Amino acid sequence: MINLYDFCSENRSGLTQPSQLDKYTIASNGHMLIATISVSNYQPYEGNNAEIILKLIKKIDELSFKDKPAIVWPNADQCSTCKGGGTAKKTVCPECDGEGEVSFSNYFNTYFIDCQTCDADGDVIAIHPSATCPDCHGNGTVFKRPASVDIYGVKVNTSYLRMIIDQPGIEFCPSPDDFKLFYKFGDYAGVIMGMNV
Ligand SMILES: [Zn+2]
Ligand SMILES: [Zn+2]
Repeated sequence: MINLYDFCSENRSGLTQPSQLDKYTIASNGHMLIATISVSNYQPYEGNNAEIILKLIKKIDELSFKDKPAIVWPNADQCSTCKGGGTAKKTVCPECDGEGEVSFSNYFNTYFIDCQTCDADGDVIAIHPSATCPDCHGNGTVFKRPASVDIYGVKVNTSYLRMIIDQPGIEFCPSPDDFKLFYKFGDYAGVIMGMNV
């Protein structure tokens, strides 16, 4: 099952939630785009590169795709968020409100100290039986950054590739000249921006 929210980002580098663009539903974290024929009533896309995205999606129909190649993954470490279990939930720390520090004031001064509840992280992490770990997407392992894998001559970030690689029938179309890797499976298609290294 694809959860389009997994492909969104928490910050402004991508979309914070899936959006409607033309007849498609799209999601993107700024480095990877996924699109499908409209699945639900998400909000209309409000970004300023709608035409570029539409062009990319429409281009996919003209490309010829190849089967999933054998992949050599780099070594991975256990995910510290979920302790390897693949399930965890992050919530904003109630003590510092996500700031990572708390302040104390007396008559003379205001002091800021690291929040002890969240270890100055701003997030409280709890192992959660049914929530996919946001840091490893349920894999239980994370790659040292920046880790990449070569797919037909395009180097892509392992974390992004892992989000789709096990989808049945996945196929790829490399575009090494502009560092893009197109992919499609089932009713979904998209592109991963490759690493220019
Ligand atoms: Zn994890
Ligand atoms: Zn805190």
